[in-house]
Amino acid sequence: MFQLKKSFVIVSLMAGFFATATVTSTSVTSTPLNASAKSTSTKSTITHTIKRTPDLNPTSQVRHYSAKTYYTYFKLFNKNYNVQRMSKPSVFKNNHATVYVPSAQLRESGYVTAAMKNWNAALGTSVFRVGTAANHTITVNTKNGPTSADGSWDGYYQTNKVYVNSNFFNNSAYLPAVYFDLTGEKMAEADAPNSAAYQQQYKEYWTAVITHELGHSLGLDHTPYANDIMASESETAGADFKYSWRDYRLSDNSFAILTDKLSSRDINRAKLTRVIGYW
Ligand SMILES: [Zn+2]
Repeated sequence: MFQLKKSFVIVSLMAGFFATATVTSTSVTSTPLNASAKSTSTKSTITHTIKRTPDLNPTSQVRHYSAKTYYTYFKLFNKNYNVQRMSKPSVFKNNHATVYVPSAQLRESGYVTAAMKNWNAALGTSVFRVGTAANHTITVNTKNGPTSADGSWDGYYQTNKVYVNSNFFNNSAYLPAVYFDLTGEKMAEADAPNSAAYQQQYKEYWTAVITHELGHSLGLDHTPYANDIMASESETAGADFKYSWRDYRLSDNSFAILTDKLSSRDINRAKLTRVIGYW
């Protein structure tokens, strides 16, 4: 109910540009890689190296291959690290996207800017830059989303748009419910939305939701690790997931969604999707 959801509904016009989760086509016809670059490693060598990395964590030994290797074996990397292209190719130009926030409420909150800075600081580059109404490649907006147990979402990313569910964002009872659902404990000052403690947790949670959705724009899909910003409670193995899971894997017993802290796994996966060419 409280987990983050995303949508893989891709408008048909764009379908050919994506290596998507739900369609069988995984062509990357527009991937900005130089296919003539360097040599190609063999599949068995790559597979062997992948197996030596921690689960879903593409540490440096799998991030040094040639562009041609990633171009040839992107499905192998996608499957083993739960990544795939999720943005249309025009979103990232020269390794950065430009973000505009139509919603005055979101803009004034500063949460989008904080989420952008979170990724920029972690990756050591300004992957997300502030745009304008006239000049942007990603929008972050509010939307009246569903609140029922089935099909509700806090935020989602689709093609080049992030949405935040305003029905949850504006419901002061929602965050304490999420907090209790995740931790089994009552959130500090849960009944006092104007208190400093509530406001701090609210800021961290909704900034983390936006950080998570921007992670999708970079090509990161979910993991079961609670201390990853890209965590989700459950997923089913398929073309885009290494394996199925039905609950979070708790690592150091913290939920990144409550702290807005990127894990080393989040960061390594984003570094991988850069070298593959997804941003
Ligand atoms: Zn998600």
